[in-house]
Amino acid sequence: MTDSAYQKCINPACGAEFDCGQTLFKCPACGELLDIRYNWDKTEVPGELNEFARRWANRDNPLDFSGVWRFRELLNFCEDKYKVTIGEGQTILQQNDAVAEYVDMQPGCLYLQYEGLNPSGSFKDNGMAAAFSHAKMVGATSCACASTGNTSASVALYAHHCNLKCTVFIGSGRIAFGKLSQGMDYGAQTIQIRGDFDDCMRQVQDVCAKLGLYLLNSLNPFRLEGQKTIMYRIIEGLGWQVPDWIIVPGGNLGNSSAFGKAFAELKQLGLIKQIPRMAIINATGADTLTELVNNKKLTWNAGKVQQAIIDSFYADLTARNFSPHTCASAIEISRPVNLKKCLRAIHICNGVVRAVTDEEICDAKAIIGKYGLGCEPASAATIAGLKHLRAEGIIAGDERIVCVLTGHPLKDPNLTVNYHKEKQGKFSNPPIEAPNDFDEIVKLIK
Ligand SMILES: [Zn+2]
Repeated sequence: MTDSAYQKCINPACGAEFDCGQTLFKCPACGELLDIRYNWDKTEVPGELNEFARRWANRDNPLDFSGVWRFRELLNFCEDKYKVTIGEGQTILQQNDAVAEYVDMQPGCLYLQYEGLNPSGSFKDNGMAAAFSHAKMVGATSCACASTGNTSASVALYAHHCNLKCTVFIGSGRIAFGKLSQGMDYGAQTIQIRGDFDDCMRQVQDVCAKLGLYLLNSLNPFRLEGQKTIMYRIIEGLGWQVPDWIIVPGGNLGNSSAFGKAFAELKQLGLIKQIPRMAIINATGADTLTELVNNKKLTWNAGKVQQAIIDSFYADLTARNFSPHTCASAIEISRPVNLKKCLRAIHICNGVVRAVTDEEICDAKAIIGKYGLGCEPASAATIAGLKHLRAEGIIAGDERIVCVLTGHPLKDPNLTVNYHKEKQGKFSNPPIEAPNDFDEIVKLIK
């Protein structure tokens, strides 16, 4: 443990504080989410963000090589001896004019932050590097998570690296094939619950409390500290400048929460002058955030979030026996656990929320595949959402935009194959059947 960090309840009426040696996940006093806070005067934070760049030169130092721990002064909650890394965060910020044209942006303005290059193929590895470091610090021996897929893959990979026993809870039939294959291959015990992600989330919290397992869902505030580094790397990729907008898919809302916190801290430290705006994109079949923010006008309200609005919305979901449905399984969540932190991020970043259809997601995914590095379906919600925001005129064509592509295209091969092979969308690129005949084959080559 360092004396520069502590945990604090996000509820201003409570504000309870705990040291980082405790494993809590929810405030024991009031049940709200916990934050990691820093005594910045006890950490030597560089005076300029570009000072972090020198660490790239030290390829033989695993903490300098890590795209998370390279920025360790900005998430200084544990000593170096506990820090876990498997080489996460070697990701690419790709400027892409062809995708820009698809969303009516001017050349040079659109960037794709491709997190599929992480060891388990998704952005989750950023958070796991941080959370498993905390798990090691507190001496955890066994861990668990509920997952729509990427979390289970990432947890399973880090768990065996850290020698922790690992159980993952998934909803039956709700997980993309690539992700399911990873959890099993990395050696996790996989428990498939007859239910959806929200059911799994409820079960895993109770199981962890009962059996004393270390919980690795994004309720875990240490995970969000690792996810902040995606924003640092974007700033780095832009020559230590901030973009005008960050666009991110909205599922359990851990990412958007972490990004808002990252920018608020950078501003507080004087390391950036301007906080970018943020757009969070839901799927229409799992659009809790869109409903609550755009229609029910739910806001952060200085931490005094109107719980009655949330309660009545969830009561209605229960009464209708509602289960979310979208092809973007990573964001198929109707009761996002980080909702309140996300509302705070929306406040910090002057954020907007939109929902896009599965058809829009699949078409955008095909465009990112054709012109970019590809991505999983949920990631493509960002480009589909950007198209909406351009059409509405909320984002101008010459602003500098970064879309966060959260996962690798091989995470969900079935969806990709079906889209192309079954000619499901505008950009389907199906294989052509050919006889085993040289001349006939030559005729087919365009
Ligand atoms: Zn509290």
